[in-house]
Amino acid sequence: MAVENIQENTPENSQETSQETEKPAEDAVFRVRADRAKCCGAGMCTLNAPEVFDQDPDEGLVVLLDPDPLPEQHRAVRDAVRLCPSGALSVEQG
Ligand code: SF4
Repeated sequence: MAVENIQENTPENSQETSQETEKPAEDAVFRVRADRAKCCGAGMCTLNAPEVFDQDPDEGLVVLLDPDPLPEQHRAVRDAVRLCPSGALSVEQG
């Protein structure tokens, strides 16, 4: 008698599959840069990726907390770069 590995299609299994397909791609290099000379203190970066960006309490300029964030933070960092009104943020990836 053959034994087959059949999993029931339960909500738990479906959720696992969904999480696997949404897993962010890991980049070999993902290096964040923040240019305080360009920053105008709008704060979009801290709203989108608070684990990676902060603002200094005096001028409100960006403070880079983590230039090499975890893969699960890459999407939020890309959003922060895209939404920064002054072009102060960039990511080197590859
Ligand atoms: S979003 Fe851009 S301009 Fe705004 S605080 Fe962050 S780096 Fe500065």
